[in-house]
Amino acid sequence: MKCKTCKTRMTDIRIDFDCEHGGITKKAVKVPACQCPICNNITVPDSVLERLKVFAVRERENVVDFASCQQQEEDDYIVLNMLGFM
Ligand SMILES: [Zn+2]
Repeated sequence: MKCKTCKTRMTDIRIDFDCEHGGITKKAVKVPACQCPICNNITVPDSVLERLKVFAVRERENVVDFASCQQQEEDDYIVLNMLGFM
């Protein structure tokens, strides 16, 4: 992804921020984002935000760990594959 302001190639980083969904605020941690090394712009891709929404709904705790939710999702997928559901 390139910076919208200066077109510099952005660096992949992980960020923490509060996300609100359905009136409940949860803390999203280790969310993949891009940061511009020149103007320090931080952008979270729409695809990541969409997945975060799904994770936030599923997560019962107030902290949504994107990295572990993603890992969990992959594990579920592998299990479903092995069971022949996919
Ligand atoms: Zn920039």
